[in-house]
Amino acid sequence: MVEQGKKIWRDGEILDREAGDRTSLLTHTLHYGVGAFEGIRAYQRADGKTYIFRLQEHITRLFDSCKLVKLEPRVSLQQVCDGCSALLAAEGMKDGYLRPVIMYGPGAMGVLPADNTVETFVVAWSWGAYLGSEGLEKGIRCKISPFCRHHISVAFAKGKITGQYVNSVMAKQDAKLSGFDEALMCDVNGFVCEGTGENVFVIKNGRITTPPLGASILAGITRDTVMVLAREEGIPLVEANLTRDELYLADEVFLTGTAAEVTPVREVDHRPIGAGARGELTRRLQQRYFDVVKGSDDSHPEWLSLVE
Ligand code: PMP
Repeated sequence: MVEQGKKIWRDGEILDREAGDRTSLLTHTLHYGVGAFEGIRAYQRADGKTYIFRLQEHITRLFDSCKLVKLEPRVSLQQVCDGCSALLAAEGMKDGYLRPVIMYGPGAMGVLPADNTVETFVVAWSWGAYLGSEGLEKGIRCKISPFCRHHISVAFAKGKITGQYVNSVMAKQDAKLSGFDEALMCDVNGFVCEGTGENVFVIKNGRITTPPLGASILAGITRDTVMVLAREEGIPLVEANLTRDELYLADEVFLTGTAAEVTPVREVDHRPIGAGARGELTRRLQQRYFDVVKGSDDSHPEWLSLVE
């Protein structure tokens, strides 16, 4: 169990958990999966203050996800941003993971939402290294999943839509039951797309490759962060389709995500990646990432929202 906070932000109000943690069994989203969500981290940085990382970008993506499925929030983007900060302040959490959700409430119970309410909430919990602190240092073991990523004509890869995550849950479950830490999913044509909640990067001969946004991938905010940092570090980077053999033959592989941060991959399908340990470029980028999100690297103040 995660350590959930004591408060919930719900449609503009901060409520005690008991009052706010209630949802009707006739919640349309529970039955059909049309809801939008985000995962956001806040860190206490070296100056002792807590900052939410790339809050505006996360909430913009939340509203974009709503647009994709024609879900119309009753609150504004700014209200949700303010709600995230207010919730963390009310919790007194120094480091935390924020989970905003926008969903249909009760109303019509057929597939087509009609008079259903639209509800927005944000909850927070404490979350350490999602793929383990050992994984951050030594790298994790991945499996190419038998579950393909949604075809672009089937679902919205660019949205964090609740129901779409059945695909990720199945892939993750299969990987864990098979003794691996994480699954990597390919599209229906066999190109490597992403992890169940992470984007993927491959390094070969000093050059980084990651699948392009046209692939069936989420436009990860950590992906974007790492791409900016790689360019600043002078490491060549291209966005191109990746095949499974390019993955197996890479010098380094790493995953990025709000929860997973920058996690090295040391093995894919029983094949060691490079030396079978965290690679040097991965270590450099990981270090830079942690310096930016929670250290004293002040080169990107535009990514940090102070919690007051
Ligand atoms: N892909 C998928 C499928 C995800 O769920 C996530 C997590 N949001 C990511 C990639 C990484 O995105 P981000 O860096 O914005 O957290």
